[in-house]
Formats: sequence, structure tokens, C-alpha cells
Amino acid sequence: MKKNKHTLSYLLTPDYMFSTFDEVTPEFLENIGISALLIDIDNTLAPYEQDTPDERIVAWFDSLRAHGIKASLISNNHPPRVELFNQSLGLPAYPDSGKPKSRSLLAAMEEMGSTRETTAGLGDQLLTDALAVHRLDMISIIVPPIKDKTTPFFRFKRWLEKPYIRKYKKQHEEKL
Ligand SMILES: [Mg+2]
Repeated sequence: MKKNKHTLSYLLTPDYMFSTFDEVTPEFLENIGISALLIDIDNTLAPYEQDTPDERIVAWFDSLRAHGIKASLISNNHPPRVELFNQSLGLPAYPDSGKPKSRSLLAAMEEMGSTRETTAGLGDQLLTDALAVHRLDMISIIVPPIKDKTTPFFRFKRWLEKPYIRKYKKQHEEKL
């Protein structure tokens, strides 16, 4: 099985999907042995135009913290956006992360003192968020984008993701 791990299908198919970020509960994470999260900002926690965390986001991070689950922000957006968003959260934060590259993920795990076995990635895009964590053989949790951009490039990326979302849904139907 192991040699098939880095097929495109493995790299892009999420391990878990939820409707919203806060459906990813501390209890769920504990059940799958995860104690640290690498979290995307844009369209995962908040739409692009929301520059600070709302109560729901703050409450979710509080619940993670209460359970001893570490969190960091890994964003491909630029430092001003990430720094402003993180101002009240005070998390380890990596702007311009270059996902699907591994560099920022590895740095964040080092800062959190977590390992690949106990860390999962949470994001909305398969081609950056899922791919980045699967390249490191880690767990990928995906939520649908809160509010997608409607540029042709973004629509093209979403089209590319479709077969892998279908694959996830098929796999999980079979388990029911
Ligand atoms: Mg995103």
C-alpha cells in the first residue's frame, strides 16, 4: 500500500471533510489522535474581505486551546493580511507560505512542538491545502470555501478539484 501513497489521487483527496471550520471539534481531533492544526485563513476561517476574526472564530480557537490543541496559521496571503487577522489570536503565523510547499508547515510544527503524526492541516483548497499536508504524509481536513472568488482561474481550480471531492464522498458513502 505504502508505495501508492503519493499518487495524485492520494495527494488531492481529503481525509476528512466538514461543512464549516468549527465542525472540526476538539473531540473529533482527539479521536483521530491530532493535537495540532495547521490552518488556512482565506475562505477556511473567513472570506477574503473579513480582516479580523469574529466571535465564532475566537470561540473555536478558545475551545481548541481548552483541550490543549495547538494551532497555527499557514496562509498564502501576504503579511499585512495575516498579521492583522492574527493580532488578537496571537498564534504562530506563516504568511506567504507558498503552499503546497512544505517549508512553512515544517516551521510551524517546529514552533508548536508537534510532529507529522499528531498534526493535521485544515483548509479549503485541494491544490494547496490538501496537497501541502499530504506531501508530508499528514492528515488533511477540508471545508468548502466560504465565499469563492469568481475569476476564471479560481473556477478552473475548483473544476480540477471536483473528481477528488467526488472520490472522498464515494469512499465515505461506502463506509456508511
Ligand atoms: Mg484558502
